[in-house]
Amino acid sequence: MKLYEYEGMELFRRYGIPVPGFEVASSPEEAAEAAGRLGGRVVVKAQVLVGGRGKAGGVKIADSPEEAGEHARRILGMSIRGERVERLVVAEAVDIARELYLGIILDRSIGAPLILASPEGGVDIEELARTKPERILKTPVEPFLGLKPYHIRRVARFLELPPDAQKQVGQILSGLYRLFIENDCELAEINPLVVKKDGGLLAIDSKIIVDDNSLYRHPELQERAGREMNKYEAEARRLGFSYVELDGNIGVICNGAGLTMATMDTVLVLGGRPANFLDIGGGARADRVEGAVSLLLSHPKAKILFINILGGITRCDEVARGIVNALGKAEAKKGMVVRLKGTNEEEGRRILEENGIHVVDEMDEAARKAVELAREV
Ligand code: GDP
Ligand code: MN
Repeated sequence: MKLYEYEGMELFRRYGIPVPGFEVASSPEEAAEAAGRLGGRVVVKAQVLVGGRGKAGGVKIADSPEEAGEHARRILGMSIRGERVERLVVAEAVDIARELYLGIILDRSIGAPLILASPEGGVDIEELARTKPERILKTPVEPFLGLKPYHIRRVARFLELPPDAQKQVGQILSGLYRLFIENDCELAEINPLVVKKDGGLLAIDSKIIVDDNSLYRHPELQERAGREMNKYEAEARRLGFSYVELDGNIGVICNGAGLTMATMDTVLVLGGRPANFLDIGGGARADRVEGAVSLLLSHPKAKILFINILGGITRCDEVARGIVNALGKAEAKKGMVVRLKGTNEEEGRRILEENGIHVVDEMDEAARKAVELAREV
């Protein structure tokens, strides 16, 4: 889960990382008032979860509260890469001498946090990694030992900072590392970390991603995740299904994570694009299957349904009854491809065929059919 910049800045502050004074505003009036309190010269910044905000015109410097209000009016009306701006950060403007990059990511290939640092901050780090990889320092942290003084010395030297800045780098890196660990982060990034004209360091932008699997340990974030779910995600969660929204037009229902992944791969290889996938899990009875099928039948992006079930503890006759019941109650008809194999397969097939639903034997053939149908809609 991505945090907003202001949420990250609040965390920075809590972990002793210096940030400029800032306030959150959601109207031009609030922004102007905040600018007044912050001394007049401020930066007005769109709060969105997508990147490239500055380039899109979502970060503007103002010299007075009136100008902050004008910027706020313009930025609040914007949509940045499809995301509407509903909130702003108004922050004290900083006189910047240099922009640096400092981040920690969870590097799954080494199973440890990896510190990234670059003297060329402010720019897109992925871009820098492509064009000037030698300008990025990567130094791993052994998780059982934690951050050590040599990490700090190495980072300070690579950032081309004078020796008297080491203490501050130490404070910032230690804070960022603690923040990263204690908040179960996948990424905690300061870009840019700026050197002010008077020499001090300041974090002026935050990017933080928290591991979704850890949200149960962070009730405030879990509550926000709940608020941001769309109604299909919320309903799937309520019914206890694993469910993921995607961009295509084929609704996919399977049982078990392995078969679900294999089905997704097959659909993609054949040129189809799933609208979502829903895993009914093991041993689902007719009522649960009915819930799953009804949910995807009501989903506007799922133009056709592909149901791929391998019965083990899941009984095919129960699945079939669930499908038939859902279809009986559905408002709109949709193309549907069903592949059903395993426990009580004959009974399941009989129930479906009695209701005019043809069952396909092989997964590849079924996937091909689904992709073809999806092309026609
Ligand atoms: P991003 O585009 O979403 O990464 O937004 P940032 O907050 O990182 O701002 C983008 C750029 O705007 C920074 O790299 C700076 O060059 C500039 N900027 C942001 N805040 C200030 C500020 O207080 N003073 C000055 N001079 N420039 C700023
Ligand atoms: Mn930035």
